[in-house]
Amino acid sequence: MIPLILVGAAGRMGQAVVQAALSDPEFSIKGQVDLAANLRALGGVWISSLESLLERGDVVVEFSSPQGCREAAKVCAARGAALVTGTTGLSAEDEAALRQAARTVVVVQAANFSLGVAALRRALAAALRGLRGWDIEIVERHHRGKADSPSGTALALAKDAAAARGLPAERVLRFGRQGRVGPRSADEVGVHAVRGGTWIGDHAVLLAGEGEWLELRHVAQDRLAFAHGALAAARFAAGRNAPGLYDIEDVLEAASG
Ligand code: NAD
Repeated sequence: MIPLILVGAAGRMGQAVVQAALSDPEFSIKGQVDLAANLRALGGVWISSLESLLERGDVVVEFSSPQGCREAAKVCAARGAALVTGTTGLSAEDEAALRQAARTVVVVQAANFSLGVAALRRALAAALRGLRGWDIEIVERHHRGKADSPSGTALALAKDAAAARGLPAERVLRFGRQGRVGPRSADEVGVHAVRGGTWIGDHAVLLAGEGEWLELRHVAQDRLAFAHGALAAARFAAGRNAPGLYDIEDVLEAASG
């Protein structure tokens, strides 16, 4: 059995991972960490900090906040435990903490752990190969409680699109439009964030040509979609000795090979 310690366990994603892990005999939940109060009402083994329980061989699954991600990276590296992290909206400093941890332990990071979004990214790359010069706009929708905008997935899709065109993301990504902005430039990749209600995650990539357009869209209907991907990443991390920073494509490749 793979011992899991969940960080952000009381949150929307944390609870989805608990639900998925409880129905998978390959995993045991060794501990759950969260800053939120009233954790007892949720049941399970709650611990006050990762340090109190974490040891080599454990896998930490973290969906919390940039601070929670940074802290988990440091503690995992110090204890020799693997880390699966899905938190988005990370700063350069947070990303550096993950790279630092990945020098000594296995770290799997993905802005989106769903299989459908991995397929969407591949489909986008394939579509762009045949659609030179078409305009690219990304529209994402999430629930009203989401902290970061645009979503990590929208950013990943936009960066994929810029890279496919051989353009620097920092120059061509365009976040929303307002006022008299003039005609759209050929290079830009528009990114638009919609917030409201209970949308779990909806990403549409619009490819607009002359007199025709194409939409590639993924809709997450249940957080279990992300949770099952995170558990696949935990399985991958538990079975791997070589430290490094891995992503969902590495997990899928290992699972299919
Ligand atoms: P949420 O607000 O419902 O839950 C976050 C939980 O983390 C809260 O219970 C909070 O108390 C806890 N927390 C915050 N900081 C902490 C810390 N330092 N230590 C311990 N616990 C801490 O949020 P959510 O919807 O579950 O999303 C969490 C993160 O996961 C967000 O960044 C979100 O964008 C991301 N997310 C990623 C994926 C993916 O597939 N990669 C999917 C959905 C959400």
